[in-house]
Amino acid sequence: MVNIKAILGDITKQGNVDAIVNAANTSLLGGGGVDGAIHRAAGPELLEECRTLYGCKTGEAKITGAYKLPCVYVVHTVGPIWRGGNSSEDELLKNCYINSLLVAKRKGIRKIAFPSISTGVYSFPLNRAAEIAVKAVCDFVDAHPEMFDLIEWVCFDEETLEAYSKQIKKLFGESKEPVFPDDDELADKNRITVKTDWWKTLDMPEKHEVFTFKRTFSPEQMEKLKKGHIPEEMEDKWFWYMEGNTLYAHRSWTGFCIYIISFSEDGNHTVTVNRELSQYKETIIEKDEKLINNLLDCWS
Ligand code: ADP
Repeated sequence: MVNIKAILGDITKQGNVDAIVNAANTSLLGGGGVDGAIHRAAGPELLEECRTLYGCKTGEAKITGAYKLPCVYVVHTVGPIWRGGNSSEDELLKNCYINSLLVAKRKGIRKIAFPSISTGVYSFPLNRAAEIAVKAVCDFVDAHPEMFDLIEWVCFDEETLEAYSKQIKKLFGESKEPVFPDDDELADKNRITVKTDWWKTLDMPEKHEVFTFKRTFSPEQMEKLKKGHIPEEMEDKWFWYMEGNTLYAHRSWTGFCIYIISFSEDGNHTVTVNRELSQYKETIIEKDEKLINNLLDCWS
């Protein structure tokens, strides 16, 4: 079970984590605040590696080595600049956390420390930022319960510590360990392997395809499918969620690739696939079709 907490401290001194997150700017070439502190502590090699990344968009994340820092990696994410709240600031801040965790996950990182992204020079209101940050982490942990051992915020002042501690207490309870009472109930009822369905609505404008495939299911097979008889060995590689006659299957091992399969009585089923292009370059529909058929063989 993942330990989620907020502590007071200097993020550049954290040796108990595999990675620290940097609240960088889009150039990734260093700046003030926590960014400056990280570059100073890591030494000039960090800047050299950052130069090879050609910047980073707001809400996205990239990873480098940590050089002289006491951890192994630095995840660089770019928080939104506060412009009053109507410029997608909330969504972009949430993306920073989700993308940082995804990038970290791909490197096998299990312990990670965040600063309070965007609440310094970028002026995001502190309590609002803390609420979004903790909720994003909570949702991620909920969908990937075995992925991390420690996710912490290293807060530079008491006020920041209080804001994050309050939200952690609200979402994770006194024990600071995640609790999911409603989800367990749901899982029991329907044998759904995924704890939440937050990923269903992820916005992935990069790639969006629709195709139809033919397959007939007996009523018994359909019933089994709805109950979620997912093979054990696939449980941590796929997340799925059945809603009515629609199956949401998230191939989550290396990045986002979500298949939304609408089953139809006539055996012609519609599949919408959204994929993260940097991870899933293949866009061959026949391959998707084969993959889905293989999964359905296992699941039905
Ligand atoms: P942003 O530009 O995203 O607002 P800042 O670096 O200006 O980033 O501030 C983000 C937060 O990081 C602020 O709460 C700031 O006090 C804090 N901070 C600055 N230096 C450190 C440090 N060495 N360790 C942890 N947090 C830090």
